[in-house]
Amino acid sequence: MLLRLFSGYALLLDLSYLKCPGEHMANSAIIEHCKISEGISVDYNVIFWIIIAIVIVNFIWGQVRAALNRSRMGDALPPELADIYDADEYARQQQYQRANGKFGLIEDSFSTLLLLAVLFTGALGILENFLHVNLTDNFVLLPLAFVAIIAVTLAVISLPFSYYDTFVIEERFGFNKSTRGLFFADSAKSLMLTMIMLAVVVGVIAFLYHLTPQWFWLIAWAVLTFFSIGIGYFYSQLIVPLFNKQTPLEDGELRDALFELAQKTEFPITDVFVIDGSKRSTKANAYFAGFGKRKRICLYDTLIDDLNTEEIAAVLAHEIAHYKKRHIPLGIAIGTILTGFQLWLMSLFLGSSELAVALGSPTGTPSLMLGLIAFSLLYGPISELLSVGENVLSRHNEYQADAFAARYGYAAALISGLKTISSKALSNLTPHPVVVFWTYSHPPLLERIRALGEDVRKHSTSTSS
Ligand SMILES: [Zn+2]
Repeated sequence: MLLRLFSGYALLLDLSYLKCPGEHMANSAIIEHCKISEGISVDYNVIFWIIIAIVIVNFIWGQVRAALNRSRMGDALPPELADIYDADEYARQQQYQRANGKFGLIEDSFSTLLLLAVLFTGALGILENFLHVNLTDNFVLLPLAFVAIIAVTLAVISLPFSYYDTFVIEERFGFNKSTRGLFFADSAKSLMLTMIMLAVVVGVIAFLYHLTPQWFWLIAWAVLTFFSIGIGYFYSQLIVPLFNKQTPLEDGELRDALFELAQKTEFPITDVFVIDGSKRSTKANAYFAGFGKRKRICLYDTLIDDLNTEEIAAVLAHEIAHYKKRHIPLGIAIGTILTGFQLWLMSLFLGSSELAVALGSPTGTPSLMLGLIAFSLLYGPISELLSVGENVLSRHNEYQADAFAARYGYAAALISGLKTISSKALSNLTPHPVVVFWTYSHPPLLERIRALGEDVRKHSTSTSS
């Protein structure tokens, strides 16, 4: 038993596959034929080390990006942004960035070390085997119990971090409005929601995989797509009410202005909703959710407090553009294709006992859950690159939405609205271009302001000629 506990550590020292006697073939052939004493094909070792390399490179790359951002801190603000912060506010903004940077480093280091510890000890394999022996060997219940334990463990581990973030960092800079009661209620609800989603996804995959290991991915793709579109469709009715109150915007000057804009842009709405974001944070936001009859535009109450009518109309024009330009169906289509690709690729790996052993399975029997987790870790770099692609597309869509607002004469109001939102949130105004390219779903403020200026110029020349 003790040996098993350290089987992961043994992987670290086992280099026998490098000097397999009598083998002078290409590496892949060596890997295929060379067996270690226990009779398990050794390419689990290669898989294990690839996973470790992915985890470490991912951490280093995150720290490189953070360092690149730090190198731009304290830069003099370009003239377009000079009026956002006075000297005191700018100093406060820099302190906020620094506090977040330090916190991010601690959080990332901790989670990376934890993951490495789990991998080197083979803890996941041990857990799976333990549940299999002591709880159930049912092909659906075992995976469900396994992910439930992991999800609860992760939630408990991340709780102190998010507590510190909310009640120390956000509190110190005056953003936090959440109470301890609300914080813990939120955490419990998020965990519940995660468990339900995981139960559906894992349950569907486990059941179908048992039914047809070859074609499960195709049916799972259809079922999960239906499920996620359903969630997207009912998002405002199902998910949001768990956390926030949404009330129709009350009659008055603002409502009139927004409805006039909706009419002008031929955007069919019956209501604009106000969401009580102020019970958690002073930060302002607006979003567009759902589609078809269930589409809904929500303005944070904090946005209504901070911005004037014209600026709010500009934000609404931007949100309407996301609908007009069909950004939501486009996002769903891309997401669906990527899910299909991932499920198909996964189907090629799931039955492999090497994946199970790489994660520490003591028996070496192929395991759906260990295969799934090992696959997700191996898929990490692909998923990272795909998310960079999604960010590129998303920033493109944001420019489009801004240009739409500019066409309706809201460029100046949108600029001043965005400036207010950024200044109240102590946003980083000088992020490094590499960080923007890699992780930003929205263009930085300066680029948006410059593009809006371009839009105005183009628009005024096209109408005058
Ligand atoms: Zn947008």
